Parts: sequence; C-alpha cells; structure tokens
Amino acid sequence: MSNDELSRRDLEVLWHPCTQMKDHEFLPLIPIKKGYGVYLEDFDGKSYIDAISSWWVNIFGHCNEYINNRIKEQLDTLEHVILAGFTHKSVIDLSHRLVTLAPKPLSRCFYADNGSSAIEVALKMSFHAHKNANKNKTIFVSLTNSYHGETLGTLSVGDVELYKDTYKPLLLHTMQTPAPKDATKEAAIKAANKFEELAQSRGYEISAIIFEPIVQGAGGMAIYHEEFLKRIDLIAKKHDIHLIADEVMTGFGRTGEMFACNHADISPTFMVLSKGLTGGYLPLSVVLTTDEIYSQFYCDYNEQKAFLHSHSYTGNALACAAANATLDLFESNNVIEKNRETSAYIWQKLERFRDLPNVANIRQKGMIAALDLVGYDPKKRMGLKIYEYALKQGVLLRPLGATIYFMPPYIITQDECDTMLDVAYDAIKSII
Ligand code: PMP
Repeated sequence: MSNDELSRRDLEVLWHPCTQMKDHEFLPLIPIKKGYGVYLEDFDGKSYIDAISSWWVNIFGHCNEYINNRIKEQLDTLEHVILAGFTHKSVIDLSHRLVTLAPKPLSRCFYADNGSSAIEVALKMSFHAHKNANKNKTIFVSLTNSYHGETLGTLSVGDVELYKDTYKPLLLHTMQTPAPKDATKEAAIKAANKFEELAQSRGYEISAIIFEPIVQGAGGMAIYHEEFLKRIDLIAKKHDIHLIADEVMTGFGRTGEMFACNHADISPTFMVLSKGLTGGYLPLSVVLTTDEIYSQFYCDYNEQKAFLHSHSYTGNALACAAANATLDLFESNNVIEKNRETSAYIWQKLERFRDLPNVANIRQKGMIAALDLVGYDPKKRMGLKIYEYALKQGVLLRPLGATIYFMPPYIITQDECDTMLDVAYDAIKSII
C-alpha cells in the first residue's frame, strides 16, 4: 500500500477533525504506518519528527515499549468494565496515585474519556455543588483567549473566535475576564484586579472561574505569570467561587512542573486532566476534586442531589493501564528534571530565530516553545505554508494561525531538537 492509495480511500469516506476538507485537493494527507520514539513513518517510508506530540498527547513518544507492554498485560486480563457498581484494580491504583500527586486537598477522582467531556463534568459539578448547598450560581467566568474544548458547554467558556463564533446562538451565557496580556507580573496583577471587580459585583451568581493555568494553548501558546493564579485563588475563595483548573494540556510535566498549578502553589477546586494522562495512548480524562465538594453530593438517595453523569467508557481499563504505565515512567525516569535540560537546550537553539525579521515574541515554558510570525495578512495562511514546508523536510509542525510552536515528546534527543528547529528556521526563512 502506498500513501496515494490510502489517501484516496480515506478521502472517499472520512471527514477529518479541524480540517477544511477541500484543502486536501492540494494538501497531501499523510497515512501513517508506524510510530517509534518521536517519529511517525508513512506508507512511502518517509519519517517525520512529531514536534507537536500528536495534538499534545504523546509525552513519551510513539510505541513506547514499556507502555505497550503494560497495555498488553491489561488486554489479556480485562479490557473494560462498567464503572457504575463495578470497579477494577487499574482504576483504583491510578486514582490513589493521582491523589498522591495532585495538590492537596484534591482527593476524589471522577473519570470521563476526553478533555472536553471532563470540562463538562467540572462545570456541572460546580453548579450542582452550589445548588446542593442551596445557592443558585449560574454564571461561569473564563479568561479571554481561553480554550476548553469543542462541545457546546466547553465552547461557551472558551474564547477563541475561530471555533466559537459560528455556534454563538447555541451557547450558554458566560462571562469573560481579561487574561494577563503578557508574561509580566504587572500584567498578572492588572488582570487579577479586573477579576476582583467582577467578583465584587457579580460574585453571588458566579459558580466558578475556569482557566488554563500558566499557558493558554489553542489561544496561541500565551504564557502568563503565576501571580495571576495566586491572586484569583484568593479572590475566588473570598466570594465562594470555585476554581476549575483546565490542565488538559499543561498537566503531566508539560510546563516544567507536574501540574501547572504547582507554579503558583495553588490547589483548585477542580483539576481537569487528560492528554498526557495515558501517555497519549488512549482516551481518558479525570476531574479531581476535594472532599468538601464530594460531601455536597453524599447523602441518602435523592435524585436531585446525586451526580448522575456518565460516559460509557468512564475509567476504561486499557486506558487506566496506559495511565499507570505513564506514571511509572515519571517515577522511574526523573522526567521533570530531564525536561529542564531539554527545554534549556531548545531555548538556547531558539536564539538564532531572533535574527529573522518576520519573527516576534519568542517564548517558552517548560516543554512548550513558541514564536509568532509577524507582518502577514492572516488570509495568506502563512502557518499552512510553514506546515507544508516542514512536512517535506520530515517535521510535523502544526502552527496555530501565525503562532509556530514546539511541543515534542519528552524523549526527544538534542539531535532531534536540532532537526526540528533547523527545519522550522528554514521554513520561516523561506517565506520572507
Ligand atoms: N482543554 C484544553 C486546555 C485543551 O487544550 C483541550 C484540547 N486541545 C481540551 C480542553 C479539549 O480536550 P479534548 O480535545 O480531548 O476534548
């Protein structure tokens, strides 16, 4: 089988995510035959460095031998079981490990199967916990430029026009408070002050503030100072507003700490995890919350008070085995420390991008690095040109509009970083 043959068969029947399908009249679709380490290999034998960890999930590379083996063991024992009324060892082990790792007092795990549905869980739980305490708090506050997923509920709290605009007539009424406009402490304080004003005037009806801690991903890898989190934590507590930390992208070491909330030493009311949770192998997500929230739902059976939310694949056993294997790798490999070396190396290699006249705002937080292309009309789709150029040179980049970012698997070597960054540099140079 060749790339061409498979692409043709694919385009007969598939509709791909986040894609204008007509683009594939000129843009080749790439059928992947296998993955290993940071590489993906297509059916014509060409390999690509996966510089975006396949949508930010694949933290220990493709076909990681250790994770593969743990999933295979699970597969021969139990593939899945309903999680209502039943349980299994992998989900129990995983939950204890997550509670041990998470900021205190997070102590309860509620599972779903992707990032968006876990955000929906956190939103519903927040509203419902207040309701069970006889409070009618119906407003969710989110940050400008935020992204929390693509379902109607998550789009309602998101603020990226590209994904949200079309569906506005269908969405929940929510409020946005400004995200810090840059990574300085001053910007963080200014933005937190705005939230304080809002909390003072409307706090009585605000259920929660939801935010991507430290880095706003789909909003263009916008990094902000941890002071913002410290302050909104205090403000929210004062006004009985829950904190929902969307760590779907930032969790599991991506920003240089196990969880991005750790940068600010805060403990949210709800912490939402997915993506890296299973090492990028299988769909799984979890909402961690406190005993205080849990106890709002714990009473003699009363259908109004119980959290009657479910997904068929909640706590899937194979996904939990992948997650336990992922946590084993964190425990045995000193991952966070090693990442610091890799990110320092990437930062140093980004230095020469400063000479490019069409590049601005080079930035980094942990294993996320990004820069913006400047001086172009967005309609010219320069990001797409970079994508095409890099693919030809064997690197998968997937710019967000004019933002080019690097979010490779943690196992990337310095040589592979060199290739990834050299190709990006040449790609950017090619469009000057
Ligand atoms: N929150 C954040 C911060 C995300 O980056 C994403 C996905 N990119 C989501 C939520 C939604 O996760 P999923 O795509 O698994 O629904």
